[in-house]
Amino acid sequence: MDTHNRGDQERGAVYKAIYSGWYCPNCNTFYHEGDLVDGKCPDHPRVALEWVEEENYFFALTRYSERLLAYIATHPNFITPPSRLSDVMGFFRQGLRDFAISRCVNPARPIWGVPVPGDPDQVLYVWFDALTNYLTAVGFPDNGTQFAHYWPADVHVIGKDIVRFHCLFWPAMLMSADLPLPRQIAVHGFTTLEGRKISKSTGNVISPIELIDEFGVDAVRYYLLRSLAFTSDGDFTRAGLIQRYNDELAKDLGNLLNRVVSMIKRYRQGVIPPTGAPAALELELQLAATEARHGAEQALARWEIGRSIESIWGLVRRANQYLEQSEPWRLARDPEQLARLDTVLASAAEALRLLAVYPRRQREDAGPTWPARLPTRRLGQARHLERRASGCSWRGQRPFPSLRGRA
Ligand SMILES: [Zn+2]
Repeated sequence: MDTHNRGDQERGAVYKAIYSGWYCPNCNTFYHEGDLVDGKCPDHPRVALEWVEEENYFFALTRYSERLLAYIATHPNFITPPSRLSDVMGFFRQGLRDFAISRCVNPARPIWGVPVPGDPDQVLYVWFDALTNYLTAVGFPDNGTQFAHYWPADVHVIGKDIVRFHCLFWPAMLMSADLPLPRQIAVHGFTTLEGRKISKSTGNVISPIELIDEFGVDAVRYYLLRSLAFTSDGDFTRAGLIQRYNDELAKDLGNLLNRVVSMIKRYRQGVIPPTGAPAALELELQLAATEARHGAEQALARWEIGRSIESIWGLVRRANQYLEQSEPWRLARDPEQLARLDTVLASAAEALRLLAVYPRRQREDAGPTWPARLPTRRLGQARHLERRASGCSWRGQRPFPSLRGRA
């Protein structure tokens, strides 16, 4: 922090001036009159704003306005989705202003904060301090090797309420320190609950732990990723979770998995048979698999996670159809068709294998827009878990049993 701050001062990006204006104590944001909604913080309409008049340190955002605009123009994927980029362009049209980065230490009303280096009467404004954690957490400035390994970040994933800080203030701060910008800033929307804003004061809070206890972690993860659009707001409903669970996990995927596994067990003693020459149906299934993968990758590059899963589900549905059309239960009764039965069972098993690896492959293959480095470490853990899971014996328990409506 110290180094970063001094660097700014040497370049004249930080200066001292009198600040007067409104301050929201809830989100620690300074507001100009024009930014207020009915005289209140846009995000905290019930919180009384404080009128602040004091000498603070300022960051000269206006000095970086043109450079920032040029960077965004030449890096069209820097801010995503495009609707959030429009919000940022709106800030530019309104005109950027320098912003305060410190607060006065007032003995009558003490506030906690990191002291400004060389000026004990001031503490750093919480956002300026917080943003620099992106650097210090990965070794800046003392551990150059670690820092070079992790920075620039592939992507910052942020909520839509902190766009101004991450898409304007933070890139300008990095420019002032001659440090590379993160490769992408992906902005997600809010989740509402049964159509209403989730808030502690309303009391409509939902506990993910309780949901996991009731539905299982896979089902909750699936519903959140599938239903709640990343790029816009999404509405969480219990009925929606139960419906997706029954229709997509129990009926589509659960049936497929169950049918394939039980037929391989019944007809081939639990060993996946070798596949013979593919007929038209197998080629169609292969094509569906390729399409599902491409569609999923393209959607994921745009952060449309729900669409990505939808694309993968195209293969789930096609594989179910494939079983209906190839009728392995009929083939099993005809001694002339045993080689054909092998091909059908092996192809269905291969579709299932792909369905298991696709979500993971995407993270590894999606390229620089997808956070590759940290998840690779987590994948190491996942492999460990897989090894553990592969040792478990078959319990005959059906995955994703249907739920009775409890909405
Ligand atoms: Zn606020």
